[in-house]
Amino acid sequence: MTAPNISTSKPLPGVAVIRTGYWGKNLVRVHQRLGALKLICDKDETVLGRFKEIYPEVEVCLAVNDILEREDIQAVVTKNVLDHALMAGNPAPRTGWVCACGKRLEEDLACSVCGAEYRDEGAKGLAKIEERSGG
Ligand SMILES: [Zn+2]
Repeated sequence: MTAPNISTSKPLPGVAVIRTGYWGKNLVRVHQRLGALKLICDKDETVLGRFKEIYPEVEVCLAVNDILEREDIQAVVTKNVLDHALMAGNPAPRTGWVCACGKRLEEDLACSVCGAEYRDEGAKGLAKIEERSGG
């Protein structure tokens, strides 16, 4: 598996993912691909062993207290968020919406950079409105 070539002006925060149930697997994969994942925490040693096989460079732990002792971890992910949600703070509430291109969306849910438009789908978050062909 190769990591995508992502360049950022700031170093990524070190991330720990707690609980790796249904959505947790996705959170682990996404943060690992970003290069931010440092630690996976779960109560199940068998689950942690499987993650260690997939992501040998990522550390695992059984206790949340182990995360608190780590100076290289600045963010803890505990649950999935709505599609296109911008989360910030501690704890992190949704502070806005973000386009797939990375631009923060205005109130009309239209992107001023790439022109994409979104609709609010409630509990799912935002969905991109596909362009209609023809006239
Ligand atoms: Zn955009």
